[in-house]
Amino acid sequence: MTKKSFCDIDNFMQGLVRRNPAEPNFHQAVHEVVESVMPLIASTQRYRDASVLERMTEPDRIITFRVTWMDDAGNVRANRAWRVQFNNSIGPYKGGLRFHKDVDLDTLKFLGFEQTFKNSLTGLPMGGAKGGSNFNPKGKSDAEVMRFCHAMMTELQRHIGEDTDVPAGDIGVGGRELGYLFGQYKRLNNRFAGVMTGKGLSFGGSAGRKEATGHGAVYFLREILQHRGESLENKTALVSGSGNVALYAIEKLDELGCKALTASDSSGFIYDRDGISGEKLEFLKDLKEVRRGRIHEYADAFGCEFHAKKRPWAVKADFALPCATQNEINESDAQHLVKNGIHALVEGANMPTTAEGVLTLQNGGVIFGPAKAANAGGVAVSGLEQSQNALRIAWSREEVDTRLKTIMADIHHKCLTHSQEVHGDIDYVKGANLAGFVKVADAMVAYGA
Ligand code: GLU
Repeated sequence: MTKKSFCDIDNFMQGLVRRNPAEPNFHQAVHEVVESVMPLIASTQRYRDASVLERMTEPDRIITFRVTWMDDAGNVRANRAWRVQFNNSIGPYKGGLRFHKDVDLDTLKFLGFEQTFKNSLTGLPMGGAKGGSNFNPKGKSDAEVMRFCHAMMTELQRHIGEDTDVPAGDIGVGGRELGYLFGQYKRLNNRFAGVMTGKGLSFGGSAGRKEATGHGAVYFLREILQHRGESLENKTALVSGSGNVALYAIEKLDELGCKALTASDSSGFIYDRDGISGEKLEFLKDLKEVRRGRIHEYADAFGCEFHAKKRPWAVKADFALPCATQNEINESDAQHLVKNGIHALVEGANMPTTAEGVLTLQNGGVIFGPAKAANAGGVAVSGLEQSQNALRIAWSREEVDTRLKTIMADIHHKCLTHSQEVHGDIDYVKGANLAGFVKVADAMVAYGA
């Protein structure tokens, strides 16, 4: 390959698409990174000599397996599951497990790729991975979820370990699922080890882990604003989702004086002009974390607006925090946000904005905080959970929160300096991609071919 073709983005992407056909999410995630890092690669001989970009866009290993379990009616059911071990150059593989009906290899490759950069940004020694299954937890009983988790871990356990690969939660995998998964690992291996994060507080979990992604995203937004001499106080925000990330983003926004006006699930969104706070937030947590109910119950209880089958992006506010799922903000949503004068958008979910959406927002003058940086607080506290497990100690909630704030401030600083060095301006997307890339690339160069 000539030097010119090596540094040509279109040429690189054509090769990637050929090698990974019909994987649009993976293509989208790679394209964004390649656009950011190509100028650096073009000027850095050692990265070209080591073919780092080719190697970094190819997972180290993909494990595919069947999970067989029995439903409550006595029928034998089968699902497909994967673990994508993407890159362990800077530490053991680390990343969540997602249970959702639409999970496929494309989704998990995009998430594992993103995780590699995100984990690098945290400054902690964690490689990138992702796993999951097309198991649909909706409408399943506790006993069915338990049997599925046990069956899944029966296979997964041979591929993971505290120095090898450390899974955690993601969409559809929360405290209940992590308990069932960890319990089965322990049972099968007769080992109580920090092989998973997000564990319950009584069995090796970290204080503040459940809240970390949402709180961290708001800390990142606060860093962006502070850098410009602005603050969150007396402002308003649109939040999508009502899972772990959304609930605790809302909590932190409220604590810092910013009203969260919306929350959503797949059935629609609620619009509470007074802000989701106090007993209303506690109601929402109970509804979603304990009772697993639908979001309209919040509107029924507090008499606010419920918009069935809609997303909140046409509502007017100062900030937007998409915390639901990938590609939930398309070009036309982005146009609405720009038209309504949204000041900043910070991604709590992974890749919630389409490539066209990102362009529309950036061209429209919206400050854009990408997921890799903004939602890294979750995996960062997972890294802290690993440290506590290795040391056999437990830090206080305050200690973990202080470390999380420092990590989010460091990530913000890295984004700024890297984007300014290579691109000469503040662009959080480019800064996050570059900062994440350099650390992994330097490790790969050091190891040789
Ligand atoms: N699933 C989360 C993420 O997307 C957390 C992963 C972890 O804690 O390992 O970053």
